[in-house]
Amino acid sequence: MPKHHPLLQSFGALLVLDADSWHIQSTSTNLTRLTGIERPEKGELTLACVLGKRLSQRVRRELQGQQRLPGPLAFIRPEYSSVRFQLYAYRTGEQVIVEIEPLNPVGKRRLLGTVNERLMHLAKATHQEELLDSLVNAIQQITGHDRVTVCHFDSDWHALMVAEALGEHLPSLLGQRFPASDFPLALRRSYENHPVRLIEDVNAPPETLVPASPGVSMSGNFFRAPAPERQRYLQQLGVRGSLSLAMQGDTDLWGLVSCHSVAAHPVGPQVREAVLTLVQMAMQRLLLLRARQEAHYLQRVQDSLVLGAQARSEPQSPQQLLYKHAATWMKLFRAHGVVLWINGGAYQAGVTPSPEAISQFVLRLERAHLSSGPWCTRELAKETLTCSLAMPEQCGALAVPLPMNSTQRAWLIFFRPEQVETLYWAMQPATSLQPGSVVAPSVAWFEEVMGKSEAWQRVECLAAVDLGEDLTLAISAYEIGLLNMHLERERKALAEANQRLEQLAHFDPLTKVWNRYRIEEAINAELVAAKRYGAGFALLLFDVDNFKQINDSYGHGVGDDVLVALAHLVENSLRGCDHLGRWGGEEFIVLATHSDVDAAVGLAERLRTLIAALHIEGFDQTITVSIGVAVWQAGDSCKTIISRADDAMYRAKHSGRNRVELALEAVPPVR
Ligand code: GH3
Ligand code: MG
Ligand code: MG
Repeated sequence: MPKHHPLLQSFGALLVLDADSWHIQSTSTNLTRLTGIERPEKGELTLACVLGKRLSQRVRRELQGQQRLPGPLAFIRPEYSSVRFQLYAYRTGEQVIVEIEPLNPVGKRRLLGTVNERLMHLAKATHQEELLDSLVNAIQQITGHDRVTVCHFDSDWHALMVAEALGEHLPSLLGQRFPASDFPLALRRSYENHPVRLIEDVNAPPETLVPASPGVSMSGNFFRAPAPERQRYLQQLGVRGSLSLAMQGDTDLWGLVSCHSVAAHPVGPQVREAVLTLVQMAMQRLLLLRARQEAHYLQRVQDSLVLGAQARSEPQSPQQLLYKHAATWMKLFRAHGVVLWINGGAYQAGVTPSPEAISQFVLRLERAHLSSGPWCTRELAKETLTCSLAMPEQCGALAVPLPMNSTQRAWLIFFRPEQVETLYWAMQPATSLQPGSVVAPSVAWFEEVMGKSEAWQRVECLAAVDLGEDLTLAISAYEIGLLNMHLERERKALAEANQRLEQLAHFDPLTKVWNRYRIEEAINAELVAAKRYGAGFALLLFDVDNFKQINDSYGHGVGDDVLVALAHLVENSLRGCDHLGRWGGEEFIVLATHSDVDAAVGLAERLRTLIAALHIEGFDQTITVSIGVAVWQAGDSCKTIISRADDAMYRAKHSGRNRVELALEAVPPVR
């Protein structure tokens, strides 16, 4: 493939030096015309011939071991011309390139004043539109181009005109789009090396190098002539003079400032520097405004979050959460439907697909290993993941997995409807326009883009992830609440069961007084206390008289009622420190603490009289009991004291019933 001869624009002159920056191999054809510097008649051409001894030495020194000069150098060669020049030098391959450009006198002070004043304007802008308007007007004032525009690239590298400053009688391009094909990758890349690109005159015949030096790379060269297709493109637009500047975003080219003129339009280095400063400041401000806007949006989403102080104290179910917040969320995420999918169950609000379609969707998201981050599309029907799902009313979806534990899976999904968008294209790709006619194409066209929803913004994805994390916490809080409730319920049931067990273990189920086991326990405790402290106690054993006959005449049920009424009466007649227990059948024991013989017999008499006076509803017979009273004696056991009371009780029976008998003193053991 034959190498192209480097073609250059005529507003600057170029020197190609050897790696040593000493010998000049080639110069641009315009060197003498532009600078007045002549080639020596004999001898070889060196850098010193062109720049003078001191400056050439300085360039060589500063380039030693370096790729480029740290900045441009100004110089004047009064012996050739009264014009001041600016030079810049850098290495490319085995060569050193020196760019020389005249520094046309400009009102430097006025330029600085204008730039400062305009910078103040930019710094005050509070909205993107205001900022960019301010920028294009400032640039137009400084450069005097017929049209200054800002275009912003979308994710497909189509450019949308978002700001414009126009000379009179020119049609506006604002709101129109230029296709990505107008901004090929190579062109966009070149802005990374050189944020400024100047084409003074598209139609100007190019300069070349003498002697021809086909191997020299011109890619980083500021004076390089426009490529033929770029030249044709600008001619089609009716543009002769062009200055473009990169608007570098955080990660990518955000957009371009383009200055166009119908006539050739020189722009000197100082003016370019001033414009570049304005553009860079504007870009800083733009990113700041955007960051602020995003922060504000994220704050709004944060504010909508469910884990407020109140929500924390009374956790809500996923369903309650969704229904309470769905309207706010849909508004914040510009969605017409929202789904909270948890372990196979879908809670839905707004316009959403069928539960089956949602489950399918989630299944595929999880199968595609997308469960670690958000997934979004604006064309559900075109995505392989979703194209076969029946979601007729949906065009866009943003799905966020909730970071639950390994056994639980949950997704928050927003849906957007189709949004038919009308795109105004500044030029139809295939049309050719007469060059030089106007600075704008005469034929614009528009297209309707269907089958797409509004695009999901980066910040919306971030906000959805935030919301998902918060929802996870809210759902966990709810589940913990549920668990606690179950635990509390079980704890109560357990306590009740324990109580029942205790009842069974210590109380007689019929009369609700102590059972035999419990009264025995109490007697044993009293025996211990009596032995240790000598505190005597008494034991009354009583048996209902002729109870069999009550049962026989009135039935077992009435017999039971009698026992209950009797126990109730006795229990309520005792001191707090005395106890009643059912010894078995219709036999009861009263344990009277701190009682001597008199007190015990007195108590027994009182109980006997009370019982004899007991009246039971529907039972007209008198109930009597026979009571045996035994008072504690040293050496008593539970068995001996009860046995003595039993003997006394039998004596009472035999003596005619309804009476109290005191137990005989036990005979002390014979030694
Ligand atoms: P006495 O004691 O005066 O000699 O005569 P009695 O008729 O009471 O004789 P005994 O003590 O032998 O009879 C007790 C009866 O009490 C026998 C039994 O059927 C009845 N009985 C025992 N426990 C219960 C009970 O829980 N409910 C009822 N209704 N009857 C019971
Ligand atoms: Mg009996
Ligand atoms: Mg009896």
